Amino acid sequence: MSSPRARAAELRDLIDAANHDYYVLDQPTVDDVVYDDWMRELEALEAADPELRTPDSPTQRVGAAPSERFAPVTHRRPMLSLANARGRDELIAWHRRVRTVMEQEGLGEREIEFVVEPKIDGLAISLIYEDGLFVQGATRGDGVMGEDVTANLRTIRAIPQRLRLPGGQAPPAVVEVRGEVYLPLAAFAELNATRAEAGLATFANPRNSAAGSLRQMDPAATAERPLSIWCYGVGYTDGLVVRSQSEALEWLRAAGLRVNPEIRVVRTIDEVQSECEGWEARRGSVDYDIDGAVVKIDDVGVQDRLGAVGRAPRWAIAYKFAPTTAITTLNDIMVSVGRTGALVPFAVLEPVSVGGATVKLATLHNQEDVARKGLMVGDRVIVQRAGDVIPQVVGPLTQERTGDERPWVMPDHCPACGTPVVQPEGEVQIRCPNRSCPAQIQQGLFHFASRGAMDIEGLGEKTIQRFFDEGLVTSFADIYDLHRHRERLIAMEGFKDVSVDNLLAAIEASKSRPWSRALYGLGIRHVGDVTAEALVAVAPSLDALLEADADALAQAEGVGPVVAESVMEFLSSPANRELLERLRAAGLMVVSEGPTGPVDGPLTGLSVVITGGLAAFSRDDAKRAVVAAGGKVTGSVSRSTSFVAAGADPGSKLQKAESLKVPVVDEEAFLEILDGRRPPPVRDEAAG
Ligand code: NAD
Repeated sequence: MSSPRARAAELRDLIDAANHDYYVLDQPTVDDVVYDDWMRELEALEAADPELRTPDSPTQRVGAAPSERFAPVTHRRPMLSLANARGRDELIAWHRRVRTVMEQEGLGEREIEFVVEPKIDGLAISLIYEDGLFVQGATRGDGVMGEDVTANLRTIRAIPQRLRLPGGQAPPAVVEVRGEVYLPLAAFAELNATRAEAGLATFANPRNSAAGSLRQMDPAATAERPLSIWCYGVGYTDGLVVRSQSEALEWLRAAGLRVNPEIRVVRTIDEVQSECEGWEARRGSVDYDIDGAVVKIDDVGVQDRLGAVGRAPRWAIAYKFAPTTAITTLNDIMVSVGRTGALVPFAVLEPVSVGGATVKLATLHNQEDVARKGLMVGDRVIVQRAGDVIPQVVGPLTQERTGDERPWVMPDHCPACGTPVVQPEGEVQIRCPNRSCPAQIQQGLFHFASRGAMDIEGLGEKTIQRFFDEGLVTSFADIYDLHRHRERLIAMEGFKDVSVDNLLAAIEASKSRPWSRALYGLGIRHVGDVTAEALVAVAPSLDALLEADADALAQAEGVGPVVAESVMEFLSSPANRELLERLRAAGLMVVSEGPTGPVDGPLTGLSVVITGGLAAFSRDDAKRAVVAAGGKVTGSVSRSTSFVAAGADPGSKLQKAESLKVPVVDEEAFLEILDGRRPPPVRDEAAG
């Protein structure tokens, strides 16, 4: 066992080398978890014996010295790092330290508020605006000196060249804006896939890909990467006084800078904790990587009195989440058959802990995804798991290949039933064309019983497989006959009377699910949950559906001829008609309870079109948010569209909106409208 002194020296060397690879080369050589453990160990050694805390210790310094490839920039105010809290206890300990220092400073009585922000896993940037004009941008570097990346930053569309101040306000002589440049997750995945295809090393995480993209020698290369920015602070100022962090954020937002709309100000540490947990729960549904939440004391006066220790301010703390990426081995690629017959390859991984769960399997979507990612069986791969999102294989670590890896090819026969596979023209997906394929039937049953459809608790994939193998359930309607086989079910291995009775009760309860859910559960091609809701509006009962023709169905919101035809095809099959009659006889709700009436909210009575990529949420979440706010979402712009919400890279819908004079709002305004903080734009009827 080495002495603490020798171990501290060893850790300093290890961390210095890792810092260089990470900050200067943008290619980490050790996993973040290992790095963080080294840092913690060194901090603990230094705390036990302060003599070990050398001035050049990585615990006292920020990042790494700027690369000589760029001109140096001296920051007018140092750009610090953040101390970490892992979990509630460490958060409370931080709060206690804050209160102790406040007492020493004579601020013991002062109430404090906290701002809770997402901790964006990107690259810290300083933007200098002089008289409202963007004049210089720099990386954090070692906190004192950064790299001049002005030309590269100018290629990021979310960074305004000129501040836009409301009401003709004069801009301050100088304001330094601080923020995090990041690469949206989708772009990160795509970038890695292209690099893998080109035989280049892939980026280990979105942070390194953002840094690598920004720190290009040729700004044109940066311009090709769809970088964006969230701004979260004001550094040096001349001619602007901000008294609190929340005021700074307001000012930035008003000046046209991109500020995350979900930042909140709270009063108690319990509220801080629940905000942090809220971010952790949401992290999988936003298009940017967050590795924690940042908690800041709002009052700048208090911040100044608290000051900094070492490399981090005392007035802020990073509440760290469980890491979402890990490196493991791709042991195999196997193929499953979905309910529509699609052959879906999936990765069989050496089990690895990521984002707080053990990951063994990850979807690979289709053969093109495997090719795009450039995966070979046996590769060391980066696995990502964010929130509830299905784990993803980001890409291979090509530099770690040994030559023993082997390429993978899609099977030419269905692995479940042996039927030769087909690839319908114009489709990426390879399919098993056999409608009686056992895998397809089981997946269909699983979909029918799933949460979004009939929501039958206890009827999961494994149970369905057993019932199917026993010949008990081969169609949806058989599920409702299971009660006749109670004794046989109880006799099955692994079942007890209680679990069987619970299952039968859940099946009984599912009969009262709304008609739209049953319709969705049938798994008709192109009929997702939203479409099923729309169809029910024109076919409010099974009888109405059976009588409807394609034209009538196509009248439904968002239902076009393709969907209508698909429904007609389903209904034209005598077997399907018989199935529907059996479901009716079993007592399922085949009549809609009628429209529940529009929700009362900021968008009541309005019809919204969403286009382009939204940063704050997925397209589906955005649609749900509109419905929750009382509005409805339509697929195309028409004269009856109330407004268009346009995210990044909007398509032709924007031009259509402009030609029809339909108001267009950007994402930030859209979020404010949804929250009721801003009224929806009013359509100039005369113009339309
Ligand atoms: P950090 O990234 O943990 O925290 C500080 C940074 O957070 C700030 O500089 C800023 O860029 C960013 N940030 C994001 N959102 C923010 C917000 N709302 N307000 C304020 N700041 C915000 O600290 P760091 O010193 O940059 O990096 C340390 C981390 O980097 C480590 O925890 C480690 O995981 C990783 N790292 C890994 C290696 C490696 O070799 N694997 C090497 C060095 C660092």
